[in-house]
Amino acid sequence: MRTLETLSGGEWVTTGEWIDVHDPADLRAPVARVPALSAADVTRAYDHAERGFTTWRRTSPFERARIMTDAARLLRERVARIAEDLAGEMGKTRAEATGETVKAADFLEYYAGVARQGYGTLVHDARPDTRTSHQREPLGIVLAVTPWNDPLITPARKLAPCLAAGNAALLKPATDTPQAALHLARALHDAGLPPGVLNVVTGRGAQISEALLSDPRLVALTFTGSNEVGEDLRARLAGRNVRFQGELGGKNATVVLADADLTAAARAVAVAGFAQAGQRCTATSRVVVERPVYEEFTRLLLAETAALRIGPGLAEGTTMGPLVSARQRDGVLRAVERAVEQGATVLAGGDRPADEALGHGCYVDPTVLGDVSDEVDIWHEEVFGPVLALRAVDSFEEAVRVVNDSDFGLAAAVFTRDLGAAHRFAEEAECGQIAVNTTTSGWDVHHPFGGFRDSGSPFKEQGEEALRFYTRVKTVAVHFGA
Ligand code: NAD
Repeated sequence: MRTLETLSGGEWVTTGEWIDVHDPADLRAPVARVPALSAADVTRAYDHAERGFTTWRRTSPFERARIMTDAARLLRERVARIAEDLAGEMGKTRAEATGETVKAADFLEYYAGVARQGYGTLVHDARPDTRTSHQREPLGIVLAVTPWNDPLITPARKLAPCLAAGNAALLKPATDTPQAALHLARALHDAGLPPGVLNVVTGRGAQISEALLSDPRLVALTFTGSNEVGEDLRARLAGRNVRFQGELGGKNATVVLADADLTAAARAVAVAGFAQAGQRCTATSRVVVERPVYEEFTRLLLAETAALRIGPGLAEGTTMGPLVSARQRDGVLRAVERAVEQGATVLAGGDRPADEALGHGCYVDPTVLGDVSDEVDIWHEEVFGPVLALRAVDSFEEAVRVVNDSDFGLAAAVFTRDLGAAHRFAEEAECGQIAVNTTTSGWDVHHPFGGFRDSGSPFKEQGEEALRFYTRVKTVAVHFGA
């Protein structure tokens, strides 16, 4: 078992308390342990961040960009090792973990480029001999709280724009998957990030929550995770002048219209539903199919599902790994069981794999449920596992109604050859991310990203849009006349 240190004030530190990290492919023994920081350690991290911010806000954007570019290069050089640790704590396949590492490097590179741009504009001023501009400046100390499902790119998605803009940060990675975040911190540290600019608070959320949230130096909280925790944190910040950005749950639908390329649609739905064992915020979990093609589409989807190879993420040939933890596996199986009690039909999967070699892991077979009506909870509730729920509809209008009949609004897709239907869908689906003839998942670093309704908050992530959250606008008028 490896013992890891965490980054605070530019030093790699430990404490007397530990959190064990397990490999979800085989839970028998922990693979690593990381420090479980205390409330006092969190306050020390804020002290470091305060000093880090003083340095970093005055560091030239070109130097910030250099450090971020070097960190991206280090991630690329270390990709094999990072992907092993990532797959070994989260369960995703080697290919998925490699892709995630490369994308984390992309985030740093993209925002290194953005950091070099001016964050301001000259505007006219009615007063004579007066030049007025507005410019973006950093906020101060940002807290980033991240989930286990993309343990490297979610921190990178937040830290890259945060640091590019000149803020200091505390990063609280998910308790199940801290190693990936520590790799990111190590790359930034090795690239020359000044002490205190980034501090990684490994620890148990509930134990250090108060210290993380109540510190008066906190100016913004960017959170990705469950609605339950996100809403709690948002409520606890209410009444204070602290910005909140939330990327929360989803119940993403893909619509397959009767004129669609059904083979392409089935492949895309299988990818969007089962990649990362369905543990993606943008995973497709509802499939809405026009009745004339329901049977044919289902047949194609079941063939795609049967072709998946379940196993340890790092094993040769695996196309779907385990879920992140026994807790997650059991929750998914309970949700499927309830769906069946409420009338859904299991068309594939629905259980743990029969293969005894997988008996110590957190596996769930890829699952397809047919004829899932409105009364079945799984149609509305997020599962965050490899489960697709199918339903037939009789028209485009009904499909859109069904897509929008959800508390969530993260991503939706439509498969059709009708340009008019594609555009109407993009206009009428109440989601932050709309895909036509492609998957609900898979957005690039420069694509603004974020959900509507209970899936998110008004601030988008990614692209230049992300800077709105991590900066404030200052307007400056300069009178240069006599
Ligand atoms: P979670 O809400 O349980 O935990 C998220 C983070 O919050 C973890 O770091 C956790 O340790 C921390 N935390 C928990 N309680 C805390 C507290 N009281 N104070 C401070 N921090 C606390 O979520 P999860 O189970 O890790 O992730 C799965 C969820 O994330 C799913 O609901 C999924 O939809 C969502 N998600 C959303 C997006 C998106 O972009 N919309 C992306 C990925 C995941």
